[in-house]
Amino acid sequence: MNDTCQTLYEELIKKIKQYNPNCDFDLIERAYLLAANAHKEQKRVSGRPYLAHPLSVAQTVAEMELDVASICAALLHDVVEDTECTIEDIREQFGEEIAILVDGVTKLDKIQFSSKEERDMENLRKMFLAMAKDIRVIIIKFADRLHNMATLISMPEEKQREKARETLSIFAPLAHRLGMYKIKWELEDTSLKYIDPIAFYEIVEGIKQKRQEREDYIIHIKAALKDKLDVLGIDCTIDGRPKHFYSIYRKMFTQNKTLDQIYDLFAVRIITNTVSDCYAALGAAHELYKPMPGRFKDYIAMPKPNMYQSLHTTVIGPGGRPFEIQIRTKEMHAVAENGIAAHWKYKEGNVATDQNMEQKLSWVRQLLELQRDAKDEEEFLSALRIDLFTDQVFVFTPKGDVQSFPAGATPIDFAFSIHSAIGCKMQGARVNGKIVPLDYQMQNGDIVEIITSSSIHGPSPDWLKIVKTGQARNKINQWFKKENREQNIEKGKDMLEKEIKRQGMNGLGLLKNEYLEPLCRRYGFKSIDDLYSGLGFGGIPLSKVISRLKDEYKKSHQEEPDPASIIASVSQAAQSKPSSSSSGSDGVTIAGVDNCLIRFSKCCNPVPGDRIIGYITRGRGVSIHRQDCSNIASAYSNEEEKVRLIEVAWEDNKNTSYLSTLKVVSHDRSGILVEFTNAIADSKVPLKGLNARTTKDDLAIIELTLEITGTEQLDRIIKKLRAISGVIDVTRS
Ligand code: MN
Repeated sequence: MNDTCQTLYEELIKKIKQYNPNCDFDLIERAYLLAANAHKEQKRVSGRPYLAHPLSVAQTVAEMELDVASICAALLHDVVEDTECTIEDIREQFGEEIAILVDGVTKLDKIQFSSKEERDMENLRKMFLAMAKDIRVIIIKFADRLHNMATLISMPEEKQREKARETLSIFAPLAHRLGMYKIKWELEDTSLKYIDPIAFYEIVEGIKQKRQEREDYIIHIKAALKDKLDVLGIDCTIDGRPKHFYSIYRKMFTQNKTLDQIYDLFAVRIITNTVSDCYAALGAAHELYKPMPGRFKDYIAMPKPNMYQSLHTTVIGPGGRPFEIQIRTKEMHAVAENGIAAHWKYKEGNVATDQNMEQKLSWVRQLLELQRDAKDEEEFLSALRIDLFTDQVFVFTPKGDVQSFPAGATPIDFAFSIHSAIGCKMQGARVNGKIVPLDYQMQNGDIVEIITSSSIHGPSPDWLKIVKTGQARNKINQWFKKENREQNIEKGKDMLEKEIKRQGMNGLGLLKNEYLEPLCRRYGFKSIDDLYSGLGFGGIPLSKVISRLKDEYKKSHQEEPDPASIIASVSQAAQSKPSSSSSGSDGVTIAGVDNCLIRFSKCCNPVPGDRIIGYITRGRGVSIHRQDCSNIASAYSNEEEKVRLIEVAWEDNKNTSYLSTLKVVSHDRSGILVEFTNAIADSKVPLKGLNARTTKDDLAIIELTLEITGTEQLDRIIKKLRAISGVIDVTRS
């Protein structure tokens, strides 16, 4: 076995002994030996033995003081992916828990991280799902990425930049959100080295140059603070260190400042034993140095959603130079460094997680719930985006409990965060004692009180447009799903039918199961009724459903090239039957025949006033054509066919109306469509369908389907349309 690796292994064991001296070192050794054996032929790109990699990852995991299972999984994390060892082997030799962790990391490795910006959220989602099983998976993955970034130098330049960008856009934000600041900073700093090497070394050099001056300054401040706190009997440790490079870089970049202009290049940290000592230390610091107004933040009373707790203040130091002081307890410090990982820390006699973790991790839990319930991916992604990248506001309940929300959240979000029952009975809200509108955007420090009323029967669909949190949206959706199901199904179905009719597609049979079922699958509805219900309460937009339905229809009618032609064919289908207002009559009489099935031909669309003739079809009744219809022309001259022609006449019935389609060819100019529809409206003729398209040579072809009573009326309209400037021709189609 390689000496380097042996040394790394000994360091690892030494570290583990410090925090967990009685653990199962045999198990760790077995994991090490299996990894050593499996990777023995492999080398890293740098030429170093591959085994050094899992050892470094395990070291990082041990530095976070994680349990034995995590250490073993870290040692074994690349074994399944890169060697002949299988996950079954690991399950057999190390048990289910370790197998699950290794499997999780292996699967996470297989995610193809795309380098395109728009894919980032999708990648985040995948990471998120992977960690849903066991958050230790993501901790090991971070440790893995950290070592890969640290050894990036041996990769080709292009690969370096790609990995660095991916790290900055995916891993660092997630580490931030999970409160793993130490890892986040290291990831950001190593990424910066490859993304913007010039700036990176400039900052490194700049900080180095003034090191002595700054160190003297820090020593002076630390001593002054220490003296003051000793007098007060506050036991604490104080350290001061420069902020990490990437945060300085961001400040230089976003605030357009030079290194010299950034005053808080370093922060002084006071770590105490108790919370009350934190506040006492704060008081002492403010006595010693003048605080800068507006810079004090109490994250102890109002923890960040990633569990970070600390007091922050910026004070004016000696020589008028401001610097930041952070004050927190030892426990808070562990969380501040390692975030979520702090909750998997090995604890004597209790390897499990701490009791409050569930509560502290409510952010994670809520997102996981949302992922399960979300109707579609877009919704989940937008929630994730808001929760990951939006600033938070902290507000109080009337009892003084603190709640955090994404910036822009409303009292409705607040109500639903307390309980669905409160949200559903919400009548209004009071902020700092005053009634506010429901779309009020809560501000930091607001005291929010929800006014409920038993006469309120649930949320309004409009709230879906107002709320900011996925949690509230989800709960509102659920309420509508449950409470109003029957009504919503009816309403949704009605909406869909009307819209289909309005768009002139009612002949297509779009509401068949074969088209609706794929939609249900796409949006995660369990049944078609659920889909209707979703439409009914506005949980899914009508336009989305319609366009999906068209897609499904097109898919099963591949030969029909575009929606325009579909709509055209629909209008034609509609014309095969007159829309009759007098019941039982088609408006046509046939010589000597009663109760005969009559169809109006699609080819010539006869309307009252046209000279018509009947044609006896085989088994489908009599079809009515215009006498000059070209389709019927052959029947006159063919003896066999001729017998099928039968004399028909229009009934004198003013109540019957017919659909007729006019085809207008015109020059394409703006506003022309409105002029057409106005002309038709003036004539008091109902417009039943409209289909417009433009040709390559800038002509517009518009088909207007009208409900008319006869040729007279139709001729009048044709005349009117022809008079509109730009119109080339109007014909009956
Ligand atoms: Mn690895």
